[in-house]
Amino acid sequence: MRTLIYSALVLSICVIACKSQQETDILEKQNSGYKTAAGEQLATSDKSFIKIYSTIEKKELEVEKIVKSDDEWRKELTPDEFRIARKKGTEPAWTGEYVDNHDKGIYLCKCCNTELYKSETKYESGSGWPSFYDVVSKNNFEFVEDGSLLEARVEVTCARCGAHLGHVFNDGPSPTGLRYCMNSASLNFKKGE
Ligand SMILES: [Zn+2]
Repeated sequence: MRTLIYSALVLSICVIACKSQQETDILEKQNSGYKTAAGEQLATSDKSFIKIYSTIEKKELEVEKIVKSDDEWRKELTPDEFRIARKKGTEPAWTGEYVDNHDKGIYLCKCCNTELYKSETKYESGSGWPSFYDVVSKNNFEFVEDGSLLEARVEVTCARCGAHLGHVFNDGPSPTGLRYCMNSASLNFKKGE
C-alpha cells in the first residue's frame, strides 16, 4: 500500500513537472515569436528621422538619417573629400576652396546638403580654414568629444549623415565666443541673392 501511494506521488510529480515543462516550451515559443515580430518592427522603424532647420525653407524639416557604406561615399566624393569628410581628415591650411569666399549664401554639408552656416557668420580667423561664429541650428550638428590629440577638442559632425566637418573652439568672436573651424572639402556653398 505504501509502495502504491509512493508510486502515485512520483507519478503526479512527473505529470506536474512535465506540464510545467510544456508550459515553459510554449512560453519560449511565444517569446521567440514575439522577439521576431519585435525584431521585424525594429527593422522597419530602424530608419531614424531627425529634425533639422532650413533657413532656405524657413522651417524645421523632418529628414531621414543617411547611412552609406565607404564604397558608396567613394563614388560620390573626390579622394580628398572622402578622406576629410568620411575619415576625419584635415585639409592643409589656406588650401580650401572657401577660406577666402566672401559671397553671400549658405554653407551646406558636402555629403548631404544639410544647411550648416550662413555667410553672415563667417569671419576672418586667420587660421587658414573657413571659420564661423554661429550655426544655422544646433539640431543640424552633432558635437563629439575628440581625444585624438593631447588637447581635448570638440569635433563637429553633420547630424544627418555623420560627415566630419571640423572642430569648434572657444576662441571665437562675440556674440557666441565660438570658432567653428571647418574644412572646405566637407562643405558645399549655395550662393544667395
Ligand atoms: Zn551631411
